[in-house]
Amino acid sequence: MRKLTEVIVHCTATVEGEDFTVADIRAWHLARGWKDIGYHFVVYRDGSVHEGRPVEQVGSHVAGRNSTTIGVVYVGGVVAQLRPKDTRTAAQREAMRALLYRLLREHPGIRLISGHRDYAAKACPCFDARSEYAGLLDIAPAAPAHSAIGAGVVTGQGLRLREAPNGDAAVKASLAKGTRLSIEAQTSDWLAVRLAGGDTGWVARAFVKALV
Ligand SMILES: [Zn+2]
Repeated sequence: MRKLTEVIVHCTATVEGEDFTVADIRAWHLARGWKDIGYHFVVYRDGSVHEGRPVEQVGSHVAGRNSTTIGVVYVGGVVAQLRPKDTRTAAQREAMRALLYRLLREHPGIRLISGHRDYAAKACPCFDARSEYAGLLDIAPAAPAHSAIGAGVVTGQGLRLREAPNGDAAVKASLAKGTRLSIEAQTSDWLAVRLAGGDTGWVARAFVKALV
């Protein structure tokens, strides 16, 4: 899975009251020469949620910010004269909140929910996603608890977080003394750990003191 840090919300910029499907949007994006629909999830006017491009693939929805983000779009966003408007139905509002909550739980590295307009001179998605969804970031747990077998704290400064349990494996990060870790697996010399931000890797067991 690629590293995910943010969800960016969009509207399809289609007229209020009209329905469009993943197939429609895919056709628009293929016509632009893209390889697939640019968004990962599409929320229809009836509140149903449909998958677009697979989440593990980089989408195409915000210039310069696609590599670490998930793109979510709701159908609507303008009125007849193509003026921007938050046209979300009650079902769409509810479905989007539930979808975003699920994504935060599934991908603990995601710490921000934004709107397209936060990164471009556009109205999309026609509401302030950052303020509307700020509370979700607090209630969604930072990491799934079921996978942890314990917790620990780093006792040495600059402990290397590695890709694999051996001293030659690539270094992903250098951890400060006092960093708290969720422990997910262990060998005699190594621990598989998850950081509060969601990053995972292996650290030498000798430099971690078990807390639980
Ligand atoms: Zn957009």
